[in-house]
Amino acid sequence: MYRVVNKRALVKRLFIYFLPLLLIGVLIGAPFLLLFLGSFSLLVWHYHQLYRLSDWLLNQRSFNPPEGEGAWEQVFEGIYHLQHRNRNKRNELADLIRRFRDGAEAVPDAVVVLQNDLSIVWCNQLALKVLGLQWPTDHGQRLDNLIREPKFAKYMHRGEFDEPLELESGYSEELVLEFRVMPYASNQLMVVVRNVTRLKQLEQMRKDFVANVSHELRTPLTVVTGYLEMMDGDMMPPAMWSKAQNTMLEQCKRMDSLVNQLLSLSRIEGARRQDNDKAINVPQLLKYIETEAQSVNQEKGHILTFNIDPNLDIKGAEDELRSAFSNLVFNAIHYTQPGGEVTVNWQRNATQACFSVTDTGDGIAPEHINRLTERFYRVDKARSRTTGGSGLGLAITKHVLSRHDSHLNITSTVGQGSCFSFTFNEDKLV
Ligand code: ADP
Repeated sequence: MYRVVNKRALVKRLFIYFLPLLLIGVLIGAPFLLLFLGSFSLLVWHYHQLYRLSDWLLNQRSFNPPEGEGAWEQVFEGIYHLQHRNRNKRNELADLIRRFRDGAEAVPDAVVVLQNDLSIVWCNQLALKVLGLQWPTDHGQRLDNLIREPKFAKYMHRGEFDEPLELESGYSEELVLEFRVMPYASNQLMVVVRNVTRLKQLEQMRKDFVANVSHELRTPLTVVTGYLEMMDGDMMPPAMWSKAQNTMLEQCKRMDSLVNQLLSLSRIEGARRQDNDKAINVPQLLKYIETEAQSVNQEKGHILTFNIDPNLDIKGAEDELRSAFSNLVFNAIHYTQPGGEVTVNWQRNATQACFSVTDTGDGIAPEHINRLTERFYRVDKARSRTTGGSGLGLAITKHVLSRHDSHLNITSTVGQGSCFSFTFNEDKLV
């Protein structure tokens, strides 16, 4: 609402001030002297008010202007309203900035606002962490000076931001960052940086997986195709028939076992969590595995020892646990030289249930241990193939255990043997 300056009141005030002076001046015969003295006093008074106003504007910290008198009352009041309006506007703006900053902090990505010359205007907390920026030290610094990657500088200077830029972080290894740049306000750019390490790893895992499966299936297929081609046109001498048949059968079994293991892995990955809380009679399960192990062990002739607590049952998914237990037991038999020792323990330890398989095999070098549960990872591929291994057994075991809130521990000494073990917490015991 506009306030109207009351001109008539101003004129009236002047009139009331000068009329008595004029009358007295006429009476004493010096009207001009009195008018001059009156004007002079008025001038002094106005200067005084002006002084109060400038003093308040320049020196006083008070938000309210001084009390105005006469004509100055309106001036001071006007300034007071102006101040008030400005203060409200400033608060609204501060609120807007705060909301923008809160929003930018809530974004799960690092955000940096740059001037067109790439100097930093502002960044969120995540940018400090992800890009290693320092605030406020780096305010005004050029981002291409702080991220010293030629690829980044080239990308920023080219100014074509349709495609994002992927960069391996310079200061933290194995971190892959995706930079997206978009124009922001006038003459500014907003850089949004996202950590895509996990996505990249998944993409790499998918590629490796497809390559590994194809490779694993191609080897037996090549063998079978080779024999089938030799059979064509009676090229194969009858003496080779039986060998060819055996080899083809063996290779087909390999493919069958690989496909079964892949299916079981995908079943475990897709299974619901509710499916794994049935009471399982583990001693009985281990009894079956022991019988199977004895028959597999006939060739190797190891001393097999099963120390089983007959009263130790747990809650879980039976099929999954069977494959976890048996993978470890059969691996121990396969990867131990004939005449070794394999000991299986299923015992209560304070509040936990512990399973372990210890062998006196060749052992595993430390650099392989962390990678054993990767799909298709084998220390010695040729040796694992002769045992019929696909490299999926420990990957399946790892998945099964993680679904049962447990994990696989592996300790091994080259030349002495290995121990594969895991425990189940109290809440899994029946
Ligand atoms: P595989 O089907 O090849 O046995 P696994 O996933 O079960 O696949 O095991 C992965 C690799 O771990 C094996 O190829 C082998 O090199 C190594 N390994 C597993 N168990 C043992 C063990 N008890 N002793 C020595 N090496 C082992």
